[in-house]
Amino acid sequence: MRQYQLYINGEWIDAKSGGTFKVLNPYTEEAIAEVAKGSREDAQIAIDAARKAFDSGIWSGLPPQRRCEILLDIAERLAAKQSELIELETKDAGMTTRMSSMADIPGGIGQFRYYAELARSVPFYEGLPPMEFPTSYNFVLREPIGVCGQIIPWNAPFLMAVSKLAPALAAGNTVVLKPASYTPITALELAKIIDESDMPKGVVSVVTGPGSTVGEEIAANPKVDKVSFTGSTEVGRRIMELASSTVKKVTLELGGKSPVIVLEDANWDVAIDGVLYGVYLHSGQICVAGTRLFLPGSIHDEFVEKLVAKASHMKLGDPMDWGTDMGPLVSAEQRDRVEGYIKSGLGQGARLACGGARPKELEKGYFVEPTIFIDVKNDMKIAQEEIFGPVLSVIKYSSVDEAIDMANDTIYGLAGAVWSEDMGRAMDVAKKIRSGTVWINEHHMIDTRHPFGGYKQSGIGREMGIYGFHEYTEIKHVYMDLVRKRESKLWYGMVCSG
Ligand code: NAD
Ligand code: MN
Repeated sequence: MRQYQLYINGEWIDAKSGGTFKVLNPYTEEAIAEVAKGSREDAQIAIDAARKAFDSGIWSGLPPQRRCEILLDIAERLAAKQSELIELETKDAGMTTRMSSMADIPGGIGQFRYYAELARSVPFYEGLPPMEFPTSYNFVLREPIGVCGQIIPWNAPFLMAVSKLAPALAAGNTVVLKPASYTPITALELAKIIDESDMPKGVVSVVTGPGSTVGEEIAANPKVDKVSFTGSTEVGRRIMELASSTVKKVTLELGGKSPVIVLEDANWDVAIDGVLYGVYLHSGQICVAGTRLFLPGSIHDEFVEKLVAKASHMKLGDPMDWGTDMGPLVSAEQRDRVEGYIKSGLGQGARLACGGARPKELEKGYFVEPTIFIDVKNDMKIAQEEIFGPVLSVIKYSSVDEAIDMANDTIYGLAGAVWSEDMGRAMDVAKKIRSGTVWINEHHMIDTRHPFGGYKQSGIGREMGIYGFHEYTEIKHVYMDLVRKRESKLWYGMVCSG
């Protein structure tokens, strides 16, 4: 079994308490690693190290070219370890090997490279309109914020770790990262690689442990300047509350209940698979999953029939197996939660078109079958709350305006999709969906260079691209006087008349 300690101030150390916890493979239900269980005290030590590293200028004071070189070197080391990372991610998170090898790991490495390059190419000076009176030169300096606390969820552990670390480091900040306890392995492997690089000590620490101690310390500690969190809306509210004590900057990437609106003229050839891809990728454990499907009455029955035919033939099994379409949920607790929602759907009068149970042929692993509910009303719990499992709620609509109203009738606003062959109509719907991303005839497409984040209670701020980089900078306005002569500075007369 793999063993991991805490990575603090450039050293691998045990938790102060000596405690550890086991990390499971959700397919075999067996422990694959034992990891140090950090506490508030460990988090404080890491934060102190990050504070010292930031204040010394050991990282932010380096020429951007040097920061770029060190980050690029880390990206190359990650690339060299790509196949090992793919295997670890699949065993830890239950993500299919198809997904970890096509999206999560190469996507994360690509993102690391992107931000490494930005560290050198992005302008840290931005000119402002010149002032004629008083004659002065004005510009903006983009400066790092300072110590950044970063807390991530379990669904795409490597990608999440990179989305936090890479832009923060590129901008010159120092970082304390807390991985999710279900899936800490690839973030700890990333720490190993950072440790082998020329990254100065204390710039990056990775502290594993409970959200209720390590996470809360990171969000509340006065030495932390910014906290960036990805996870549930419920915990996001708590983070904001804790961060408010010292008015920390916050970036929150929270939950979603993304609508998929199919118009009558959609191309079914693509839309059927597109809808299944939208909801069942990673067993539905994706924040932007298309979990509410709005269908016009005219095509409802036939469209559902085609969805069911395909969904019930998806292959569930070992995520390491290239033939597997859908792997297990991350944990027994998550499966309980999903099953609770299936009961609630039935209790509120929705009907199962397929799925709803554990697959009979699989004896182990936290599986739930691909599930489709019909006769769903938009105010049912299964249409309003984030399930984070392979459950699709199908809702009938009679006019596109009604579909849009229902699509927006949620506390969330992370993503949405519209399927139509008429770009004018599709664009009209896209404009009316209140969310940070809208796909037209697609789902899940997120690129390193494009902004990502939520409207409403799906979050604050943006990740990815230059947008994500800017979230890790403070804007300093510098005013440089070009007048210089006392007699021309008439405005001093407001105070110094004599
Ligand atoms: P979670 O909110 O339970 O936990 C996220 C992280 O916060 C974990 O590391 C956890 O240990 C920590 N945490 C828990 N309680 C805490 C507290 N009181 N103080 C500080 N930290 C605490 O979420 P999860 O179950 O790990 O992940 C699933 C959720 O993440 C879903 O809601 C999903 O939509 C969301 N998510 C959002 C995005 C996005 O970009 N918007 C991406 C992926 C996942
Ligand atoms: Mn795990």
